[in-house]
Amino acid sequence: MLNIGIIGGGICGFSCAVKIKEHYRDKAKVTVISDQFTPNTTGDISAGLWGPIYCGDTSERDIVRWSKGMHDFLHELWLTDKAGEAGVCLVPCIRATTDLNGLKPYWDDVVFGFSKFTQQEVDRLNKEQNKDYKEACRFVTFTSEPMKLLPYLTKRFESSGGIVTQRKVSSLAELVKDSQFDVIINCTGLGAKEFVPDDSMHAIRGQVIRVAAPWVYCVLLDDSDDGNYIIPNVDTVVLGGTHQVNDYNTTPDAGDRKLILNGCRQLMPGIVCGREIREMVGLRPGRSSVRLEIEPTANGKLVIHNYGHGGSGVTLAWGCAVDVLDLLVNNTKSKL
Ligand SMILES: Cc1cc2nc3c(=O)[nH]c(=O)nc-3n(C[C@H](O)[C@H](O)[C@H](O)COP(=O)(O)OP(=O)(O)OC[C@H]3O[C@@H](n4cnc5c(N)ncnc54)[C@H](O)[C@@H]3O)c2cc1C
Repeated sequence: MLNIGIIGGGICGFSCAVKIKEHYRDKAKVTVISDQFTPNTTGDISAGLWGPIYCGDTSERDIVRWSKGMHDFLHELWLTDKAGEAGVCLVPCIRATTDLNGLKPYWDDVVFGFSKFTQQEVDRLNKEQNKDYKEACRFVTFTSEPMKLLPYLTKRFESSGGIVTQRKVSSLAELVKDSQFDVIINCTGLGAKEFVPDDSMHAIRGQVIRVAAPWVYCVLLDDSDDGNYIIPNVDTVVLGGTHQVNDYNTTPDAGDRKLILNGCRQLMPGIVCGREIREMVGLRPGRSSVRLEIEPTANGKLVIHNYGHGGSGVTLAWGCAVDVLDLLVNNTKSKL
């Protein structure tokens, strides 16, 4: 029986955990070890909107493949009686930008009903929001707020026999040397900076405000560098947001708060009437590119890295888990 340890209980760790345990069933012992779980992971701060962003130089080919994997997974889930429990919603989105380069929607085939605004429609949006957008598009996609998706995945993993343990693992080298695991899957997100250690990992700070605004059903995203966004989830709406590179401050900042509220008011004036639920800060696991690869070790164990998903960890989670499972299956055939 294969003994597999997954380090990291965020959205990437639990996507791998479910995918792997449901594949091997009783042919593998699968344990998730993490120092934090939902509602205290990075994903719990996010609205879980499908949409690749801040992925560094990760190839568009990989991003489309991985993000389609998640889109298909959410689509299947949305068609089941678990959609509400898992927090999966199908929502209309408008994405616009003031950048002269315009939008680069290389993922347009993945979402439903993608189309670009005509110049006349862009002009009307500019008038409504008092903006200077150069381009805009509309489509329908999913949100899967991790505060609901993670408890759903955890339950699904445990009910198929997976084991969950809370502790911090000091280093990958130590785990490779001392543990009973045949395979270690590294899903430590920003924690990889110390755990691997990987100096190229850096925080991309994001501050958001959650409000209760049950009249909001549409995602509005200003994709410009200083743009704001409004993303409805099941019970609340997320107002964002910031993306400050190499900023590790997890305390909400008053200046950022002002930028979020003023910016979102410009997108949708009534949003500020929403009752505030919580203000939160999260550190996205930034890297030059997503690291998804296998690393053999001197003592015959395997390490599979799956971290550095930037602002797209929710979007890429299931597609990456599919690749992690493929690597696992192809490299452990002789052990089964
Ligand atoms: C404000 C904000 C908004 C966002 N919005 C979106 C969005 O709309 N859509 C989207 O796709 N993405 C979004 N993201 C990005 C997304 O949240 C992240 O990319 C994703 O959560 C990363 O998941 P992860 O599992 O890799 O890392 P994490 O969620 O950080 O999980 C890593 C886990 O590893 C554990 N760990 C780390 N080191 C160790 C160790 N040494 N020992 C034991 N355990 C360890 C941690 O405790 C944690 O549980 C947003 C992020 C922020 C901050």
